[in-house]
Amino acid sequence: MSINTDILIIGGGVAGSALACGLRRKGYRVVLIEKSNKPQDTARGDHLQPYVCEILDKWGVLDHFFQAGAEKRGGSLWYDCKGTEIMNANVSKLNIPHPYFLYLNHENISEVFLQLASEDTNFKLLRPIFKWNHIETNSNGSLFTVKLRDKTELNIKTKLIVGADGIASHVSKSFGFTRMTYRYERALAILFSSEYILDAENNLKTYITDQGIVAMIPRAGGGCKIGITINRKDVRLWKQLSNPERSKKISDLVPEYKDLEVNFGGIYPPTMINTNKWVKNNLVLIGDACHGLHPGRSQGMNTSIKCIDQLIEILPPKVGFKSAEISKSLKCYQEKVKPKIDYILEKNHKIGLQMDKFNELTEMKEINKYKELEQNVDNAYKYRMNSAGYGNN
Ligand SMILES: Cc1cc2nc3c(=O)[nH]c(=O)nc-3n(C[C@H](O)[C@H](O)[C@H](O)COP(=O)(O)OP(=O)(O)OC[C@H]3O[C@@H](n4cnc5c(N)ncnc54)[C@H](O)[C@@H]3O)c2cc1C
Repeated sequence: MSINTDILIIGGGVAGSALACGLRRKGYRVVLIEKSNKPQDTARGDHLQPYVCEILDKWGVLDHFFQAGAEKRGGSLWYDCKGTEIMNANVSKLNIPHPYFLYLNHENISEVFLQLASEDTNFKLLRPIFKWNHIETNSNGSLFTVKLRDKTELNIKTKLIVGADGIASHVSKSFGFTRMTYRYERALAILFSSEYILDAENNLKTYITDQGIVAMIPRAGGGCKIGITINRKDVRLWKQLSNPERSKKISDLVPEYKDLEVNFGGIYPPTMINTNKWVKNNLVLIGDACHGLHPGRSQGMNTSIKCIDQLIEILPPKVGFKSAEISKSLKCYQEKVKPKIDYILEKNHKIGLQMDKFNELTEMKEINKYKELEQNVDNAYKYRMNSAGYGNN
């Protein structure tokens, strides 16, 4: 069987599915191939910044997220390990169109995007696929063969290729992009608890301890996700501990959470990824495939959606969707957006390196930094705007 399409998206995580959703009803024929039939990993990014809510509103899909169970949270509160509040980074009083974060479990975010994309009859989702092969690219576009798990074989002819296959991106490797990677020393352990008691604005609470941060992140439908930085040498131990032992580790760091019942989510070794380019002829990389950020800063998914929105704006319309125009628009996208993301990556990387070296001294420095922020009206405002997605880092 053969399919002729305008856009082939490889990978149906948040980035690939968001692009498919943003492209709906614009007339393009879109095929998305995804290797897995399982839901996305629930431990990953689950809150969308106010600026991203503005994008979803512009795409006409924001309400669908609330219908799917998304909730609003006002922002983040920062505490020392004794539970004393040191900074209120709540965004609910900012003069922006959506002064809240939207939160929904990660797997549901991409499912909502895919469901919305599927409302367009020009959209085709092929999953689970077994493998794809790039056969050739010429002046008319590219030819791929795709084998599905049910053994169906397809030829797909496409004008534009989008690599959205995440941090280990096979697309970026097989099309010869140069990748700069850095694996951080400290890992992120994720736990879940159904016991978390929310405040009136569902704020996320982050505690600064001498071992790093402990973040209590509200979950849609109740409970919380707990993110805690751990030393790489302790990864094996954390995997072997019982849940009550893990709970004890949390309460040793933040006594307020004594006897909190927890379940183990997983251990994530954060990696920074930066490809030298995002674009090659009629191919563009999006999401973690070209810019992997330290998850401790909660930016990867949000940054991806912001970039995708700009990519959609720059693509030639369906009537002029031809090779030369596509290549030109991709170059323009790369020139306009990549330098900004390189800057974010650089700043994020510095913070990742600092997180690797966390100790009592840095604990005090961090606490003082947030106390000073709280006292400086202008800087506190900039911090809130930035965390809402309106800044440049
Ligand atoms: C613990 C953790 C917490 C995080 N918290 C936040 C947060 O709070 N806020 C935030 O903004 N970000 C957060 N992030 C980052 C965020 O989750 C990622 O940036 C985002 O999920 C990247 O999406 P993606 O679609 O680029 O990649 P992925 O989500 O990795 O999706 C890639 C998709 O491609 C598919 N695929 C892979 N190879 C192939 C192939 N060969 N063919 C076809 N399909 C393929 C995969 O199955 C997958 O579905 C967090 C990350 C982690 C690990």
